[in-house]
Amino acid sequence: MAHSKALLVLENFIAGKFVPCSSYIDSYNPSTGDVYCRVPDSGKEEVEAAVKAAKAAFPVWSSKSPLERSQILNKLADLIEHDLEAFAQAESKDQGKTITFARTVDIPRAVYNFRFFASSILHHTTECTEMASMGCVHYTSRAPVGVAGLISPWNLPLYLLTWKIAPAIACGNTVVAKPSEMTSVTAWMMCKLLEKAGVPHGVVNVVFGTGARAGEALVCHPDVPLISFTGSTLTAQRIAEKSAPHCKRLSLELGGKNPAIIFDDADLSQCIPTTLRSSFANQGEICLCTSRIFVQRGIYSEFLKKFVAEAKKWKVGKPSDPTVDVGALISKEHLEKVRSYVKKAQAEGARVLCGEGVDSLALPPGNQKGYFMLPTIIAEVKDESCCMQEEIFGPVTCVVAFDTEEEVIQRANGVKYGLAATVWSSNVGRVHRVAQRLQSGLVWTNCWLVRDLNLPFGGMKASGIGREGAKDSYEFFTEVKTITIKH
Ligand code: NAD
Repeated sequence: MAHSKALLVLENFIAGKFVPCSSYIDSYNPSTGDVYCRVPDSGKEEVEAAVKAAKAAFPVWSSKSPLERSQILNKLADLIEHDLEAFAQAESKDQGKTITFARTVDIPRAVYNFRFFASSILHHTTECTEMASMGCVHYTSRAPVGVAGLISPWNLPLYLLTWKIAPAIACGNTVVAKPSEMTSVTAWMMCKLLEKAGVPHGVVNVVFGTGARAGEALVCHPDVPLISFTGSTLTAQRIAEKSAPHCKRLSLELGGKNPAIIFDDADLSQCIPTTLRSSFANQGEICLCTSRIFVQRGIYSEFLKKFVAEAKKWKVGKPSDPTVDVGALISKEHLEKVRSYVKKAQAEGARVLCGEGVDSLALPPGNQKGYFMLPTIIAEVKDESCCMQEEIFGPVTCVVAFDTEEEVIQRANGVKYGLAATVWSSNVGRVHRVAQRLQSGLVWTNCWLVRDLNLPFGGMKASGIGREGAKDSYEFFTEVKTITIKH
C-alpha cells in the first residue's frame, strides 16, 4: 500500500535491541481515519527469539534482591513521568482517547503501576507454622515462575500493559509482552527507556503484531508457563483452549456488562455526574463502564430527564482539544458494531433519547473521516435484548426502571458477565445487602472507579478468572513451595 506521509515504523524489542520485522501491518489514527503507523506483523519466529532472550535473562534477574528490582522499577516510573506529555500525546493519537484522559488517567496510572509494585514487592511475607509434637516447622517460600506472556487490549494501552509488566518483573520473572496491534506506540516508546532505567537486556521483550499470529505463538510456546491476558471473553476462550495442553497458569481479565443500581434515596447530585462518567468516559471503552442503569421507579422520570440533559452537554470531537469529553472510537469496524446495537434496540421498540441517530454531530474539517459517536442513551429496553446482555464497549448506555430490591438484584445478575457494579443509596444497610448479593468482582457504592491497587481486581462468571492486585498479582507471578524442617 502506498502512503503519502512519512509513517512511524515500530520495531520489536528483543534482548535489549530494536529489531525490524519482515512484514508490517497498518495502524490508523482513529480521529482522522488515516494510516499513520506501521506495526511489526510478528509471528512464531519473532516470538521464539523473544522467549529465548527472556529465558536467557531469567537466572540473573530472578536472583536479584527485591530491593534491586524495586529501584529499577522506580527509575522506569520516573523516566515515563518525565516524558508524560509525549506519552499522553501518543496514546491519544493512537487510541482516539482525549488528550485530557491520556494526561490525567492513562499515563499517570502507568507511572503509578511501576511505583506501586516497586513498593509492594518489598512488603510480602511468607507463612510459617510449627508442629511441635512432630518436631517440625513448616514454611512457604515463593519464587518467580519464569517467562511470563503478557497480552493486553487497545482501550487503556500502556495503563493495562504496565499493570502486568510491573508485577511480573518485580517478582523476578522475565517477560514477553504483546500489546494490541491497534495501539502499540506507547509500549514501543517505553522500550526506549528500559536501558536507561537499568532493566537488563532480555528482562522485558515486546513483540508487536496480531492476536492470531503473535498472540497465539506466545500462548502456544512451551517455554512460557504463564499467560496474563486482558481482553475479550471470546479471545480468552481460545487462549484457554490453546494453553490447555501445556497446563499453563492463566490470569484472564475480560469483558463486562456492568449494572448501576440507583435507589430512590440516592443523592442525584453525585449520582448523575458519576454515572455519566461511568457510562461515557474514554468513549465507553473501559471494561468497567456502566451499560445497564436500573433506576427505582419513584425517581425514574426525574433521573432520566436530568441524565439526558447532562449527556447532551458532553462535547465530542478532536481528541487533542483539551475541552473535548469524548474522542474517537478505536476503529471503523468497532464504530459500526457499536452503532448496530443502537439500531437493533430501535428495531425492538426501545427509545433512543439522545445521541446516535437523534442528535447531529458536527466535526472539524480534519476529522470528518474519524470514528466518532455521540453519547447515546436508550430507554425501555427489554432485559433479554442484546443491548442489555452483550458488551457494547462504546458510548451507549441503557436505562430501565425497577420496583424492589429483590427484583433489581435478580435482574442485575441476569447476564453472563460479572465484572463491576455500582449501587447508589443513602441507606447503609441496603448498600451492604445489595453489594453482598451482586455477582460482581467489584462493587462501588456511591462512587465509581475509586481503586486501591492493594485489593483484588477482577471479574466473576464470563468476566474472568483470577484477580490482580498487590497480593493477588504476587501470588500469580510466583510459585509457592511448602518446606518442612524436622529438628
Ligand atoms: P481482544 O480479545 O480482541 O484482544 C486483546 C488482546 O488479545 C490483543 O492484544 C489481541 O491482539 C490479542 N489476541 C487476539 N486474539 C488472540 C489469540 N487468539 N491468541 C492470543 N492473543 C490474542 O480484546 P480487545 O478488543 O483488544 O479489548 C476489548 C476487550 O477487553 C473488551 O471485552 C473489554 O471489556 C476487555 N477488557 C477487560 C479489562 C479487564 O480488566 N477486565 C480491561 C480492559 C479491557
